[in-house]
Amino acid sequence: MTQPGRPDLEMSASHSTDAPTAPSSPPPSGSAVMRTYGRAELAFVRGEGCWLITEDGTRYLDCASGIAVNTLGHSHPRLVAALRDQAGKLWHTSNLYRVPGQERVAARLAELTGLDQVYFCNSGAEANESAVKIARRAMHERGEPERMTILCATGSFHGRTLGMLAATDKPANRTGFGPMPDGFEHVAFGNLNALRDQMGPHVAAVMIEPVQGEGGARDAQDDYLRGVRAAADEFGALVIADEVQCGIGRTGTLFAYETSGIRPDIIAVAKGLGGGFPVGAVIATQTVGSAMTPGTHGSTFAGNPLAMAVAEVVLDELGTPGFLADVRRRAGILRDALRAVADRHAGAVVEIRGRGFLCGVRLADHLPAGDAVAAMRDEHLLMVPAGENTVRFLPPLVISEAEIATAVEGFERVLGRMVAAQDG
Ligand SMILES: *Cc1c(COP(=O)(O)O)cnc(C)c1O
Repeated sequence: MTQPGRPDLEMSASHSTDAPTAPSSPPPSGSAVMRTYGRAELAFVRGEGCWLITEDGTRYLDCASGIAVNTLGHSHPRLVAALRDQAGKLWHTSNLYRVPGQERVAARLAELTGLDQVYFCNSGAEANESAVKIARRAMHERGEPERMTILCATGSFHGRTLGMLAATDKPANRTGFGPMPDGFEHVAFGNLNALRDQMGPHVAAVMIEPVQGEGGARDAQDDYLRGVRAAADEFGALVIADEVQCGIGRTGTLFAYETSGIRPDIIAVAKGLGGGFPVGAVIATQTVGSAMTPGTHGSTFAGNPLAMAVAEVVLDELGTPGFLADVRRRAGILRDALRAVADRHAGAVVEIRGRGFLCGVRLADHLPAGDAVAAMRDEHLLMVPAGENTVRFLPPLVISEAEIATAVEGFERVLGRMVAAQDG
């Protein structure tokens, strides 16, 4: 396919046909966007609640939420109003000055967690990267600069910066990216003996997702988290909860660690906090947070007034009496319905996993999760694959019972077709 008037494209196309192999094939239909994602051939122009709508008006039920981001669904009237209102007043001033919105959101996050200090940033990787810096700096200030190691879990995902590539347990993500930063070790997820064996005077912190997202919707379990807290206390290390995906109401409590009764020293959040606007935050105890003094860390964009305006609304809505209880109730309905599907398709579904609306269905190995998600898309249902051959239901937290039923029916139709195709 050549484009008239674009000799550069014609040339690259003819070159690639000559080449025996095409290590970097030309981008499709002239796209100048770097190809870091395997994208579906689908574009949306509007969103309403749990629905995404294409240019030709086709509606897709969104059980992905932009990967656990659109907490309150699309075009939530209060979010739209808050952003519009702030956009007419002030967008950005940098952190050279006070930002009143930051002070309000920080106070809310501190009150909601019982922690004390908040550092704002723009993404999940940056939140975790900041959490690691804060943990190491706290050890430095405590007079134990040799405590630098961060213990991470197998199956973990913490982001794509160089630091977080070292923290993430996915060696393939590191290929070709040169030397990784030192000071990250991995221990078996959910195994307290393994964790305790690796503990020592070199460990600054244990970094854990209370419910792993990318790893396959794997719940760390409350007993394990209590064991992690106890081991960290015994060996003088900190606990960092990576709540980037499982936090902000996704699992039915504001933070997933809450059900364990532990208090982390540092909590990283992002994804759901802005309801679709990029914003992240690190919440820390006074002891740990006070290691950070002017000049030790920063970001130009972080905590800008637009981000703070929407984060305030998200926290407001989640704090409405009964909101989270209703998330738990509806997530229970989803889980029960999926269990019934699993019972009707024994051999296709291995396990229903995760918690709340971070809900995973682990499929049998002969039914690839990626294929299932693609087939689901053809049914106008959006989901996200994860590790361990799992598909994730990550709907907006406001999904209705009727929409849950629609999603589960679509899922069961696709599952039935995939099983039939295998048998035939
Ligand atoms: C998505 C994710 C991250 C990275 O967040 P980005 O905003 O993509 O940088 C980190 N930790 C967890 C648990 C995540 O799910």
